[in-house]
Amino acid sequence: MASATSTRSFRSLRTRDFTESVIREMTRLSIQHGAVNLSQGFPDFPAPVDLKQAAIDAILADHNQYSITWGVKPFRQAIADKYKRTYNLDFDPEREITVSCGATEGLISSLLSVTDPGDEIIVFEPFYESYHPDTLLCGATRKLVRLHPPAAPGEPWRLDPDALRAAFSPRTKAIILNSPHNPTGKVFSLDELTLISQLCQEFDALAVTDEIYEHITFDGHRHIPIISLPGMRHRTILVNSMSKTFSATGWRVGWIIASASLTDGVRKVHDFLTVCAATPLQYAGMAMLNGSGNYYDSLSEHYDGRRRAAISMLEAAGFRCFNPAGAYYVMTDISALLGNGQNGGATSDVELARYLVEHIGVAAVPGSSFYFDRLHGSAQLRFCFCKKYETLSAAGDKLRGLSRLS
Ligand code: PMP
Repeated sequence: MASATSTRSFRSLRTRDFTESVIREMTRLSIQHGAVNLSQGFPDFPAPVDLKQAAIDAILADHNQYSITWGVKPFRQAIADKYKRTYNLDFDPEREITVSCGATEGLISSLLSVTDPGDEIIVFEPFYESYHPDTLLCGATRKLVRLHPPAAPGEPWRLDPDALRAAFSPRTKAIILNSPHNPTGKVFSLDELTLISQLCQEFDALAVTDEIYEHITFDGHRHIPIISLPGMRHRTILVNSMSKTFSATGWRVGWIIASASLTDGVRKVHDFLTVCAATPLQYAGMAMLNGSGNYYDSLSEHYDGRRRAAISMLEAAGFRCFNPAGAYYVMTDISALLGNGQNGGATSDVELARYLVEHIGVAAVPGSSFYFDRLHGSAQLRFCFCKKYETLSAAGDKLRGLSRLS
């Protein structure tokens, strides 16, 4: 007789070892407690008016049906033109550019298209949280390479070349490279990129890049796409998106650039995962990319002021800040705020984050969510500064309620 209940597990093995996104969980808690949300990286100021108008125009012009799976042709052309203008790189929009539903889909489609179970994927740690589930969904083995916090103020997060070399093996299929880097704000230097590119060539591996903070850099740092380095043109899958550059994280429009043979595989996965990205928003993206003028420089300036404001309010509250060279987060050392019997008795990042959101009224992300071995991030918290000045200053007022070790 058929049974109404089941004893069978309906949880696939590939989903068993990861949890809900901690970052999105912090946003949920922030809403629940009415806190100032400095956890999830999305702007609270309006997206550019030209972008919104272009989307409205595209909808009214009835660009409302499925687009060709790898993206609206003039948008792919605009992406190719942007890389030509910005980096003097030539990409064929017909065979080398695929429009995705944000970088998130771009990364998983890329990784699924090149890896088989048992392959190794190298990930720098701390890492943006989706890379961990991405490797699990691929059935790949993750090899971690630590980035070490700056030894002195003003220095970058450090990469140990020997540790990087030791992570490569004949089974390495890809290294995920995110620069400018979330959560540390590190912008990988030409020397570091050269080393990575040499190792990719020596071990016949690919670089899968996440370049979504490409246009948010500070203090003279500049983003260099590793695909532009010698030997990397056919060894790189470059992923980027409109989310951060155009302050439109909810649009879910990104792109993947790779040589034609890599692109063939990527497009297959992309097609059956999503069919296509939102058609009218691709037209709006095209308008922005074609009309960007000095938008990119003004974007860095826009965030530079907010970076300074965020650092000064965090330092005033007792956080030790690692000054970011790019992206829009500040990673902090919270040692001075832990274990002093105050701040809700917090002794770890998770406890302090919970106390902050529930009692102080500010949401941040526990550092441990960026590490595989959670102990490593247990004295760190990440704050984002992609917010209005009023929002940052409201957070600053609330954070004065913290007590630090004297
Ligand atoms: N990569 C990194 C490093 C990110 O920080 C984020 C968003 N916080 C994403 C990817 C997600 O990008 P998208 O919105 O384009 O999917």
